[in-house]
Amino acid sequence: MEKDRPDGFETRAIHLGRDFVGETGAVTPPVWLTSTFEYGNPNGFDYTRSGNPNFRLLDRAVASLEGAAFSTCFGSGVSAITAVVSTLKSGDLVVAEENIYGCTFRLFAQVFAKFGVSVRYLDFTAPESFTTLASLKPTLVWIESPTNPNLKIIDIAAVAEAAHAAGAPLLVDNTFASSYLQRPIELGADLSLLSLTKYANGHSDALAGAVCTNSEEWNAKMIFAQKALGLQPAPMDCWLTSRGIKTEAIRMERHCENALAFARFLEAETGAVSVRYPFLPSHPQYEIAKRQMSGGSGIVTVDFGLNLAETQAFLGRLRLFPKAESLGGVESLCCHPASMTHASVPKETREAVGITDSLVRFSVGIETVADLIEDVRQALA
Ligand SMILES: *Cc1c(COP(=O)(O)O)cnc(C)c1O
Repeated sequence: MEKDRPDGFETRAIHLGRDFVGETGAVTPPVWLTSTFEYGNPNGFDYTRSGNPNFRLLDRAVASLEGAAFSTCFGSGVSAITAVVSTLKSGDLVVAEENIYGCTFRLFAQVFAKFGVSVRYLDFTAPESFTTLASLKPTLVWIESPTNPNLKIIDIAAVAEAAHAAGAPLLVDNTFASSYLQRPIELGADLSLLSLTKYANGHSDALAGAVCTNSEEWNAKMIFAQKALGLQPAPMDCWLTSRGIKTEAIRMERHCENALAFARFLEAETGAVSVRYPFLPSHPQYEIAKRQMSGGSGIVTVDFGLNLAETQAFLGRLRLFPKAESLGGVESLCCHPASMTHASVPKETREAVGITDSLVRFSVGIETVADLIEDVRQALA
């Protein structure tokens, strides 16, 4: 029977790929733990570095949920970044948002700079950056939104238009928003990159990444990078990530609900110098966030105005927020960017983009939010 409307996000997240388990009747797909495949099989598999049924199941779900024609999965978000940057050549210029993910910054500065790829950093919340972009003739434009850890919201549709006018494709690192809350390809981006390790998996038990696109040419480049550079994920990690994606929608709903309540508490009751959360009306890009995201996601960044020692002591007193890198799992975490995620960024560069010693980033999990609030209250007391 002809369907009159496409399946919704949750339905696709749960049912995509069910036809792939052959005649076994298994409701849950297996983990295909095999390095190689018999020559001439109907699905065209040959060697797991260049493809595996678990990769294919994951890619189908991720592409569909991102609203893209193609997805290529990788061993981590950083592998996905490496795959994209490996398509560049000596002399190419990347124009990137200045508050970029720390490991992306490190990869550009300490690896790809040696191969002659240069990067110009701009603040994409400043209107003059659009004029600068137009004059630069970049090979690629690279942004994140929300950014890490300042949670700046970049107008994806506006940057896509400016990048295309300058003749460059736009990549959006969509990790902090997740496919459920924001779909960069639908907003005009050419590539949407995800660290699936975070919200897609949601259980902090595997690493994976993906690059999504509607372009056959970019897709071919990603498949090539996956096998030629050995950037492929492990079948077991793909299986765990596919399992996680089935509950992405309901987890994201709770992350958003908890984070908003948590941010409102911080703003109203703790005397914090600043509280950043995209769906708080006090956020400088609140209107853009409301337009391009369907929820504020789970990260809240706060500056309590404490000094370095006081900040570290506060973090040590928290009971429900282990101090750990990463984000997007069901459990809450806290992070001190200056000494953790952004320790590889030089102090002056860090402070120039607002990452002070007193900045704290909370990844708000899906626990009972009253308990999370109470924990911060006692640690501040
Ligand atoms: C974590 C993260 C990455 C890297 O992903 P891994 O899976 O840890 O390699 C890339 N971009 C952003 C925004 C991230 O938060």
